[in-house]
Amino acid sequence: MSTPKIGIVSCSGECCVEGTISRIATRIVLEKLRPSNTVTICLPLFSIGEKGERMFAKNFATIAVDGCEKQCAKNAIEKYSGKTARSIVVSDLLKKWKMENPSPRRELNKKGVEAAAKIAEEIAVAMDDIFTRGR
Ligand code: SF4
Repeated sequence: MSTPKIGIVSCSGECCVEGTISRIATRIVLEKLRPSNTVTICLPLFSIGEKGERMFAKNFATIAVDGCEKQCAKNAIEKYSGKTARSIVVSDLLKKWKMENPSPRRELNKKGVEAAAKIAEEIAVAMDDIFTRGR
């Protein structure tokens, strides 16, 4: 039996530190926390209409990881492919944890890296929830 996989899709996140954290947290999950259970796509390629990429949310339960409430990743996935299984908004979580504006945008400092690690844990928890309870 093949290993079950979940699609983790980060927003492109160039506009603010929350977007950078979103991308770094996603990489942590893909490379360190759940490498065997994750797949991803390139959001810009997806958004211009690559056919294969657009089957993505149909083939995998998907978690959108967005920097802010504009939720660019979630909106693109749901517009072009299918409903996301879970959604994480970095700015909301940082607010809840009282960790707003943790770092400069371009290169994360120690606090920014800590925030990305915490967000990555949240993504892993959301994955476990999907594996336990389904989409
Ligand atoms: S969701 Fe927010 S942080 Fe991410 S790309 Fe869109 S505007 Fe930028």
